[in-house]
Amino acid sequence: MRLRNVPGSREAIAESIFVVHDEEQMKGKWHELFGNDNPIHIEIGMGKGTFIIESARRNPNINYIGIEKYSSVLIRAIEKLEQEYNSSDERPLKNLFFIRMDAEYIENVFDKDEIDYIYLNFSDPWPKDRNAKRRLTSGRFLERYINIMKPSGRVAFKTDNNELFDFSVDSAKENNWNIHVLTRDLHNSEYNEGNIMTEYEKKFSGLGHKINLMIISY
Ligand code: SAM
Repeated sequence: MRLRNVPGSREAIAESIFVVHDEEQMKGKWHELFGNDNPIHIEIGMGKGTFIIESARRNPNINYIGIEKYSSVLIRAIEKLEQEYNSSDERPLKNLFFIRMDAEYIENVFDKDEIDYIYLNFSDPWPKDRNAKRRLTSGRFLERYINIMKPSGRVAFKTDNNELFDFSVDSAKENNWNIHVLTRDLHNSEYNEGNIMTEYEKKFSGLGHKINLMIISY
């Protein structure tokens, strides 16, 4: 993703009611924040929030947490929610919060068995071999997911990048994950029903790219 500095984004994020600021203090207590025991789904690398905002809207009985590394990107998701907030007194989507952080530290933020589902949508490919461990489906990241997910949990990964997808399928197999869904053409598959398109998915499927999907559990 090309990043442009957005002046004032750090300050706006620091004040936003849609962002959790003391995320490490919340470890093991996320249900208290939502005020219920509903399942918790997270999206890592949520970008401008198109997918997670629509997911939260469609599924009020699921709690969502969107994680994004860059303020200049996260601010766009916050702006979408703020537009709705300005036109009504009620906070929109009480089942959705954002965190600005690098997912590398995810185990400091979520406890064992705290997360039910992890979405990785159009993750950065890190094409050079020496950066392979930064890919969100590398063995190092899969290990982190095991440490925060329930045994029944799932990781869903979508991308148009075939090299990254091949790497991710191999990574899942090498690390002994179970593959439940694997398609290289999501939009023309049985798994497309109810699919929520991400911003990148709209863009790249619009250019004729096929979308890969893998759903795995440990
Ligand atoms: N998921 C969105 C979509 O499908 O439209 C955005 C995809 S964009 C290519 C990848 C996003 O992941 C970027 O916004 C990037 O900043 C974020 N990201 C990459 N690595 C990350 C990490 N380690 N922790 C948190 N966010 C990360």
